[in-house]
Amino acid sequence: MKTPCIVYDFDETLYASHGSRRLYREVWEVLTKLRHRGYHHILLTAEQDLGFQLAKIERSRVDKLFDPRSIFIVPNPTDKHEELVRIRRELRRVARDSVDLRKSVVVGDRLDCEIRYGNSLGFTTVRICRRGGKYSLRRAVSESEVPTCTISTLKGLLTICP
Ligand SMILES: [Mg+2]
Repeated sequence: MKTPCIVYDFDETLYASHGSRRLYREVWEVLTKLRHRGYHHILLTAEQDLGFQLAKIERSRVDKLFDPRSIFIVPNPTDKHEELVRIRRELRRVARDSVDLRKSVVVGDRLDCEIRYGNSLGFTTVRICRRGGKYSLRRAVSESEVPTCTISTLKGLLTICP
């Protein structure tokens, strides 16, 4: 693993699981550009049915954008916290300086999951709030759910991640 990194949620962040059942159209362009900028991509997704989620990931071809060792599927959304703890530990181990750690980002559509856990561990957190998205009308219930920034498509990451 390298720093800085961007940890992506899958459903409704990279992949329209309630709509077209494809990757959102900007995914390839944005992730390719960010990789060229030096960001290491990590996919962290929750699904009880591991085979179902793996098939979805492969069919979408998003796995071509990630190192296979950087794709993590956990059973429950709450398991993402523990996985992020592990990721942060690994980042700390390999980071040359603390600046790299602060540049690492967690991006997702759920305030009560990716954003809350990312905040609690000191990541920069980015909420993706797409129009009509399943969680797009949710409001933060506490300070711990307030993201560092909110974007409406992944293209917003290109401004946030220099
Ligand atoms: Mg999601």
